[in-house]
Amino acid sequence: MNYEAFFESELTTLKEDGRYRIFAELERKAGAFPSAEQFSGERRRPVTVWCSNDYLGMAQHPAVLAAMHETLDRCGAGAGGTRNISGTTHSHVLLEAELADLHHKEAALLFTSGYVSNWAALGTLGARIPGCVILSDALNHASMIEGMRHSRAEVHRFAHNSPEDLDRRLAPLDPARPKLVAFESVYSMDGDIAPIAEILDVCEAHGAMSYLDEVHGVGLYGPRGGGVAEREGLMDRVSVIEGTLGKAFGVMGGYIAASAALCDFVRSFASGFIFTTALPPALAAGAAASIRHLKTSQIERARHRECVAQVRRRLAAIGIPTIDNPSHIIPIMVGDAHKCRRISDWLLEHHGIYVQPINYPTVPVGTERLRLTPSPVHSDADVDRLVAALSEIWSQCELARRAMAA
Ligand SMILES: *Cc1c(COP(=O)(O)O)cnc(C)c1O
Repeated sequence: MNYEAFFESELTTLKEDGRYRIFAELERKAGAFPSAEQFSGERRRPVTVWCSNDYLGMAQHPAVLAAMHETLDRCGAGAGGTRNISGTTHSHVLLEAELADLHHKEAALLFTSGYVSNWAALGTLGARIPGCVILSDALNHASMIEGMRHSRAEVHRFAHNSPEDLDRRLAPLDPARPKLVAFESVYSMDGDIAPIAEILDVCEAHGAMSYLDEVHGVGLYGPRGGGVAEREGLMDRVSVIEGTLGKAFGVMGGYIAASAALCDFVRSFASGFIFTTALPPALAAGAAASIRHLKTSQIERARHRECVAQVRRRLAAIGIPTIDNPSHIIPIMVGDAHKCRRISDWLLEHHGIYVQPINYPTVPVGTERLRLTPSPVHSDADVDRLVAALSEIWSQCELARRAMAA
């Protein structure tokens, strides 16, 4: 086989379909985010980032940076081993306690990312609970899907956010059989929120465990940033809460929070937990500082909500079509991969506005979009510039507008 020719031809297909991923090379400016510099070859230009998952700007928060500097200087760079072999530092233990407390669970278990936490936890639970059947929301994240597949457990998909369909699919299963229902709180591409209470009702009626991915909820929702389940008073009813330290918390890493026995079980059997180097202690300390701050401070969440509402209002006023949802994610619908790319390139080139195009396979063909994530650190002037630029390119591309809001 001509390997190189094969790789090239596969990439050509992606490019023809408008699905080829081009990364924007950025240098974030601590203290000035959402301002960053974008590099293209020799050139650098200032940009405003509108698509970051650093939802609250915690990646530049003084308390987070201070904790990381202090721990780095005191403890050095790396953890120096897996958790089992010399890599469990005091910072890791404190962070796990912080997470267990955040979710009112007996215990928490850290992983190197949210992706790994889903993959390892679902993989282990599905594989190691004898006869386990997993019920999976149809729009679950790739990391959950990979974990379930890896587990080799029987998996049934239920219709997205439908407790009724979940109930229908659970009903014929042997009541004695172990069951695990895996779903998310905030779905990141449409920004819709699961009917968590209704799904938990169904789980409880069928004796199923529940596994909730709160990756896009933690830090942002609930009085202490415990997520949508905290806001709705439901954390106690969820068997496993999974989250990331890389989005609203602004650092890196993933975790599950659950009973002491469940966490100990995953700790003891998950290959993706056992056989990998622990997070650097400075990362763990930074994440703990971020969580601790957001447990009491409401200002970031309040400003975040205001900015989201403001951007929504302004886009509605000029008829830019967005998905109406109850979350902080604003998907602007373009519906064509090439146009989506072109708009994104044009915004960057002419206005220094960076919004990454979201195309298939991340979203279905025909629903290509720009996913905006306003934050407490975007200014009114940033919003003005964004809205004016979108209006201009919408006219240039002759894209449809919604009837203007009254
Ligand atoms: C981003 C994401 C993850 C993975 O989290 P990372 O910490 O980025 O690896 C898991 N689940 C969902 C729904 C996500 O969007």
